[in-house]
Amino acid sequence: MKKGLLIILSGPSGVGKGTVRKYFMQDSELNLAYSLSMTTRKPRAGEQDGVDYLFVEKEDFEKAIEHGELLEWAEFVGNYYGTPMSQVEKLRNEGKNVLLEIEVQGAKQVADKVPDAISIFMIPPTMEELAKRIRGRKSEAEEVVQERLAKAEKEMELIKDYKYVVCNDDPELAAQYIGLIVKRHMNDNETLAQ
Ligand code: 5GP
Repeated sequence: MKKGLLIILSGPSGVGKGTVRKYFMQDSELNLAYSLSMTTRKPRAGEQDGVDYLFVEKEDFEKAIEHGELLEWAEFVGNYYGTPMSQVEKLRNEGKNVLLEIEVQGAKQVADKVPDAISIFMIPPTMEELAKRIRGRKSEAEEVVQERLAKAEKEMELIKDYKYVVCNDDPELAAQYIGLIVKRHMNDNETLAQ
């Protein structure tokens, strides 16, 4: 069986990666599996362990780093986030196209380790709109919002390291566009295997 593709979806926090992901994950033709991340962040209202993230304590996360269990990891606004390696490999070996929705430091680690990964950077239509979206989430204190915005300005500079850039003005359209990118690579993968 052909190994599945590895897709990295990155971009500043608050740009809407999660919302867009929910749209294109519904397209069964894309044969996608979502890689569930591990984090030390506390769950937000409505988030569930094992569905949104694997919520763990700092000690457990540090053990996973020590044992080399993570494909990538990063510290983001005071919390750790990382991708368990075994899960990604298992799914790709089963032929699934695996989606990582991660921030830029982690995306760089994956792109370095897996050069044929399909890297997609999502941008907001404007930085004002990004600020509005982060504030609209109402889950964080203004201090954290400011920290995320300052970080987003820096993250935008990494745009050049990605194979694709998608603007999230309309989440459904952004999802359709990402769907087209994945399908193109699935066809290439198919052709190469023949
Ligand atoms: P949030 O706290 O808003 O859920 O996530 C903060 C940032 O961490 C987002 O940009 C999100 O995409 C990113 N993130 C989520 N999971 C991972 C992961 O496994 N690794 C890395 N490097 N970033 C992640």
